[in-house]
Parts: sequence; structure tokens; C-alpha cells
Amino acid sequence: MAVLQRERIEGLIDLPREAHAFFETPEKQMQMHLTVRASNNEVLHAEVYVVYHNTSRGPAKGGIRMAPNVSLAETAELAELMTWKTALVTVPFGGGKSGVCLDPLKIDRVTKDTVLREYVHLVGLELTSGAYIPAPDMATGPRDMAIIFGETHIPESVTGKPPRVGGLPGRREATGRGVATATQLACKRFLGRAPGELTVAIQGFGNVGSHAAAFLHGMGARIVAVSDIDGGVHSGDGLDVPELMRAAAAGEGVRSAGKGEEVSNAELLALEADVLIPAATGHVITGENAGGVKARLLVEGANAPTTPEADGVLAGAGVTVVPDILANAGGVIASYVEWRKAKSGSLTDAAETYEVIDSLITNAFGRVAGLTEEKGATMRDAGWALAAAEVAEAMADRGWL
Ligand code: NAD
Repeated sequence: MAVLQRERIEGLIDLPREAHAFFETPEKQMQMHLTVRASNNEVLHAEVYVVYHNTSRGPAKGGIRMAPNVSLAETAELAELMTWKTALVTVPFGGGKSGVCLDPLKIDRVTKDTVLREYVHLVGLELTSGAYIPAPDMATGPRDMAIIFGETHIPESVTGKPPRVGGLPGRREATGRGVATATQLACKRFLGRAPGELTVAIQGFGNVGSHAAAFLHGMGARIVAVSDIDGGVHSGDGLDVPELMRAAAAGEGVRSAGKGEEVSNAELLALEADVLIPAATGHVITGENAGGVKARLLVEGANAPTTPEADGVLAGAGVTVVPDILANAGGVIASYVEWRKAKSGSLTDAAETYEVIDSLITNAFGRVAGLTEEKGATMRDAGWALAAAEVAEAMADRGWL
């Protein structure tokens, strides 16, 4: 599990011993059974998990993941990541997450809407009290957040809404924007190179992967490989990113749109490229395949794509890993801007959203890279240490420690 490991942050930062008891146990774990009648008139059952890991710094924040294999353990792991992510980039939220155990490819739009309305009925009090603020994650998007808003009628109860429905211009692109910014900073600091001199391979061409590709392409980087769940496409000369974006928006696979040779998702991870960005699902880089990674820099667009065993192999091989809690924090930063906008009624444009993302990620990157260099630690361990210290301070302020 990609959760904070006590022994890896010892020596990097001083923490009260009791803090770990809070870190190792989620504050609240809810498991519910959802039943709806699908559009084909069949009764559909799904387990729903909602976990709050730590809310000392603010309400639980984290997306809703819909997938056939989500579990309470995975939801708890992702909620914990949100605790560290929000603390590291200093937005006033705690760590939360939802999992809906359903195959999104097996339900139609009408059924999905019904599932989401029933989800609100199950966790309604958490949402209307402001205790938990959901957002999109894998297989949920702005339209789904609009359904949730339609049930609660409270603009700040959910983020990632469409811009015309209380959402934020720039939220859709936000996580990809942050991934591109983190990549640019890491390339400059650790490789001494500008994005225009880079080749990049990206696994996953959904919300995060496609927008990261578009921003990096805009910075002059050569995107040499991308993939989706059906496999990928590779061209050493660089892929046509605008055409891939068009295809993804039209629901076409990257294999049919990209001009290059086909590669599998496993092969993509081992391609020749300066930067590898896993932006699909978790635990894809493992102790078994990490030795094959040829990139010098691995930027985690996805949550928890690298297992602890893989971390050890990559560190040994001199691959710098920019961890998820830093690299993909653009989404939660934009969520914070959307939540603030909903509460104040102010108007915000995409340029302002990008400015806040770039500023908070640049600030956090500087602190993490500084500790990494000072202590000879990995960026993941340095990020965990700084985030854990921030959460421990908040717990002390609340009298929990
Ligand atoms: P998405 O559903 O929009 O896209 C996922 C992409 O990955 C698609 O191209 C899909 O075909 C591909 N994919 C799915 N399963 C795969 C598999 N087993 N192997 C290879 N490819 C696979 O999801 P997203 O919102 O882009 O999220 C991607 C990752 O980024 C997740 O780990 C998510 O938790 C994380 N993340 C998302 C956000 C956000 O704002 N959307 C923020 C932070 C982190």
C-alpha cells in the first residue's frame, strides 16, 4: 500500500510519537449497500465506501472513484493520500475519498445518474453538513458532480462541477496543468533541462493524462507515447497531441487516432523517454517491472502508481520520482479555488485557476526538493515528512496531541 511509512520519515522531521496513532488509523470509515433500479429495469447492487483519514486541517476532501474492483482498503489508501496532498500544498482540507464498486462501462447514463442520486441519499448528511466535499476521480466527471449539486443545492458541497453549474473555469484541466508544472520544475532542477528538450511517455489518456500531454506539448516537449485501457501508441518523432485530444473527446481510443506503432501498457512503462508519467490507475509500477523503467524522471499523475518495492528499485537506479501528493495536487488546488468561489460568490477565470495551481505547486516543490537535497531523501519521503509535520501541528492546535 502506498501509505506513509513511519520508518521512512524518521530522521527527516521531528514528530510527536502519538501522531502516528492518528496517521495509521482512518478517522471514519463508512460502508453502505446501494440498490437502484437500472434503466433496463434490473435491480443493481453496489457497495459504497466513504473514508475520512484525517480532518484536523479541514473537511474531508477527495474524489469519487467508480470501478468494479474498488474496496474499503483502496478507498482508505486514497483518503490518506488526500490528507498528505492537501497538507503539502497547504489547502485547508483533510483527507477523504469515496469508492463505488461498479463497472462504469456496464451502466448507461440514466442508470449512472440514478446511482449518483442514491449515493447522495446514502451520504447526504455528510455532504450537506460540509463534513465531506467530493470531486471527480476515475470514471466520474463534471456531469456527475452536477447531479450531486442538483441533489444538495449547496454549491460548495461538491467540486469539479461544470463551469455553467457553479464550477470553475480551468478545473477540468487542473490536474494535468499541475502535472505539467511539476514536470517542468523537476526537469529544470534535477536534469538541468527545459521542457522543449524532453521526450515524455504517458500511461492513461483520460482527464489527467490528456491535459498533462496538452500542456507539456504546449511547452515544447515531445510526447512519444500515450495509452488508454486498450493499449498505447508510440512514435519516437512525437505524436499529434491535438488529434489525440480530439479523438479522446470523441470517445475514440488512442490506438485508432495515434500514428505510430502499437505498444501495450506494460511496454509503455519501459520505453526510451526522459520522463514517464503514469496517469491511469494505481500500483502499475512494481518491484517486478521497475527495473525496466528507462526514464530519468517519473512524475506520478495517477494516485499511488508506484508500489513501495518499486520505489526502492527506482531510487537504486537513480530515477527521481515526483510523488503523487505533489505532482497531481493541481486538482485539489482547483477544488479549493472552486469551493472558495462558491462560498464567496466571486467570479474566477481559468488564468486565475492556473496561477493558484502553479504558485502552490511551485512553493511545495521548492520545500520538498530542498529537504530531498538536504537529507539525501527521496522526494516521496521528503513530501510525506513535510505533510505529516503540517498535520501534526494542526492536531496539536486542536488539542488532539
Ligand atoms: P479517467 O477515468 O479520466 O482516465 C483514466 C485513463 O486511464 C483512461 O485513459 C483509461 O482508459 C485509462 N485506464 C484505466 N484503467 C487502466 C488500466 N488498468 N491500464 C491502463 N490504462 C487504464 O481518470 P482520471 O481522472 O484521469 O484519473 C487518472 C488517475 O489520476 C487516477 O489514479 C486518479 O486517482 C488520479 N487523479 C485524478 C485527478 C483528477 O482531477 N481527475 C486528480 C488527482 C489524481
